[in-house]
Amino acid sequence: MRYGWVATALGTAVAAGVITVFAGQAVTRVSGSAQPAHISSAAGHPDRPCPVDGTYQDKDPSGMKPAAITAWLDVTRIAAGEGVTLCLHDGKRDAEQQRAEFEDYVRKYGAEVAATYVLPPERSMHVQGTAADVQPRASAQWLEQSRGKYGWCRRYDNEFWHFEYDPSYATGGCPARQPHA
Ligand SMILES: [Zn+2]
Repeated sequence: MRYGWVATALGTAVAAGVITVFAGQAVTRVSGSAQPAHISSAAGHPDRPCPVDGTYQDKDPSGMKPAAITAWLDVTRIAAGEGVTLCLHDGKRDAEQQRAEFEDYVRKYGAEVAATYVLPPERSMHVQGTAADVQPRASAQWLEQSRGKYGWCRRYDNEFWHFEYDPSYATGGCPARQPHA
């Protein structure tokens, strides 16, 4: 809770002001960008560099499915309690973004390689809003070692960062990992 001290020291009126400033930043960034807006919800935060490794992003989770957002915010809190920062380097993608990424891989690496790293939109859990690419690596390992306890499972041998949310994982454990997407 980075801004907890503000609320404590100055009261909720100022805390509300902080939220307004956040929203203002999000809107400002959107106006200078060709990408669709990701306005933060009250529960999330704006896109930002990953606080423990600026190589990565920590994106606003608010585009994901509601249950996945809740599960993501819960697990990030639990991780933080153990001193681990989970960053959402990539979460929700719209079908158009996923198609563009897939076609970009096909152009660069050919169809066969592309198919092992990027799914077409109709098969991507990023498009469904239940996938999270978690960075940095140590944080992804922490999540993998939870073995689905929080509803998140690593799904592919070749993507240590790619996790998917399903409430059944919390009770039934993780499904067998696939070699690749
Ligand atoms: Zn992924």
